[in-house]
Amino acid sequence: MARINENYKKLQAGYLFPEIARRTREFAAKNPQAELVRLGIGDTTLPLSESVIKSLHATVDKMADSKTYRGYGAEQGQEELRQAIVDHYRKYKVDLQPDEVFVSDGAKPDSANIQSIFSSGAVVAVQDPVYPVYVDSAVIGGKTSGFYNGRYEGLVYMDCTEENEFFPEVPDQKVDLVYLCSPNNPTGAVATHKQLKKFVDYAHDNEAVIIFDAAYAAFISDPSLPRSIFEIEGAEEHCIEINSFSKLAGFTGVRLGWTIVPHKLVIEGTVPGEVQSLWNRRQTTMFNGASNIVQLAGVAALSSAGQKECQKMIDYYMENARIIRNGLNDVGIVTFGGINAPYIWAKTPDGLDSWEFFDKLMNEAHVVGTPGAGFGRLGEGYFRLSAFGERSNIKKAVASIKKNLKI
Ligand SMILES: *Cc1c(COP(=O)(O)O)cnc(C)c1O
Repeated sequence: MARINENYKKLQAGYLFPEIARRTREFAAKNPQAELVRLGIGDTTLPLSESVIKSLHATVDKMADSKTYRGYGAEQGQEELRQAIVDHYRKYKVDLQPDEVFVSDGAKPDSANIQSIFSSGAVVAVQDPVYPVYVDSAVIGGKTSGFYNGRYEGLVYMDCTEENEFFPEVPDQKVDLVYLCSPNNPTGAVATHKQLKKFVDYAHDNEAVIIFDAAYAAFISDPSLPRSIFEIEGAEEHCIEINSFSKLAGFTGVRLGWTIVPHKLVIEGTVPGEVQSLWNRRQTTMFNGASNIVQLAGVAALSSAGQKECQKMIDYYMENARIIRNGLNDVGIVTFGGINAPYIWAKTPDGLDSWEFFDKLMNEAHVVGTPGAGFGRLGEGYFRLSAFGERSNIKKAVASIKKNLKI
């Protein structure tokens, strides 16, 4: 008899974005003349850059000719792209081997799938508030029991609060896998070398593995902040890094990412190279490679011309972030993040809870954001605004907040 994976039933209803959509629809139906500006969703809006488009066109043309057509490639990614990613890390003085780089179709699937190479009984620690994928994939993998008071039993939550500037202390108990996201979605906080070193030391002392999501690394402009966990001494023995072209080059719909599993990474019962080869085995068994058209576009995005174009896009989004931050601060709303990350984490004014503020911002200013409570218990009382968007819309939203929001 076929039975479903009962763990799926433990998932909390995918509540956040459907609920935002429901409230937005209801508002639009009642206020057909109001133009809503959406600053809620973490999706890029600028078109692909010139180098990327040129590469895509060229590869598509090759696919149209039997002499240059290519089918399946290596599951781990094309040599050229793996080498380009290795070269990219050299900028941060991080030395990798091409076979430590696993190309994928994105950071979201990798951040969930990586759990499958570890024991199903692994104890997982996550930040609160958190990017929901890490939590939900742990739930599906059977690592949790009940859900009480906004948290899953079986997971270890690392509090991210105003007091610790939204970067957590190391867990006060032994855990096996630690997810860290820096620059952080949703809080926009960026970990320092010192903060990351504490986690690497924790992983060393507890034989834990850090799964580091660096999807927003390219948004760091402060040269003193680490863009890769591998900038931290000893990290290669304890860390896996996941990254993506999604926010770096606007590939959210194109799909391309990568995961670094160093040869030096060891966990209990393994020798150096064994974890790397496990992920290799996982990928060659259950993944058939990212699109060969897209992989060359990734090489183009990492070329020096491509990087200049990426930087221009990032600068555009970060100017949006500045406009949003200043606008909110001008009306007395306290904000965090938005300086080395494209998210502004705003404290809801007047003690409103995050859904109350969602409604207020929509009703009064016609701006849609994301309630912090959707990212975890400690997101309550906060609100996320995204800097991805058209400049004119961002300006319109800020002007409307200044004019119409009653606080
Ligand atoms: C957007 C985002 C990603 C990127 O996921 P892709 O699957 O590569 O598009 C990864 N992690 C976080 C925290 C993100 O916000």
